[in-house]
Amino acid sequence: MQRVGFYPGSFDPITNGHLDIIHRALALVDRLVIGVGAHHSKSGLFSPSERLSLLKSCVEAEGNQGQIDLVTFDGLVVDAMRDHGARIMIRGLRDTTDYNYEMQMAGMNTTMAEDTQVVFLPASPSVRHIAASLVRQIAVLGGDITPFVPGNVAVAVAAKIKERT
Ligand code: ADP
Repeated sequence: MQRVGFYPGSFDPITNGHLDIIHRALALVDRLVIGVGAHHSKSGLFSPSERLSLLKSCVEAEGNQGQIDLVTFDGLVVDAMRDHGARIMIRGLRDTTDYNYEMQMAGMNTTMAEDTQVVFLPASPSVRHIAASLVRQIAVLGGDITPFVPGNVAVAVAAKIKERT
């Protein structure tokens, strides 16, 4: 049986931290579905389809597209997982804030979908500090985000901020 993983997130924008988790997850599953949550967020930068196409370009740049499916979803993660035949949920852990939140979410999700296994992957030390929300804030304030995201993402973020102002 194929092991299908589902990695949900907002990916607004995709960061080097997300790419690290994707890379690690690919060592565990046969196929990885990356789910871009399309829930509305006031502080968001990119639309779900823009986030998806940035993800696509990063995944292709790493040559992993054969093992990965990219989708958007706007309901419950457990429903999206079922729709895509995935029983393994992948989440990244950076610190105790992530841990507390993720443990609660894992409890809720595995109660709703008992056949789901949640796998927590520890962030690599080199990207552990990276959060998409901080990347957005730094970019809006004119800071350099190139240490935190792939080059094409930094270019897209700059263009989006310029377009908004
Ligand atoms: P963020 O929390 O950065 O705004 P997301 O909501 O898109 O980003 O997070 C999706 C998943 O990716 C979560 O499991 C989160 O813990 C994980 N993640 C985000 N950034 C990192 C990172 N730097 N290292 C490891 N995991 C991360």
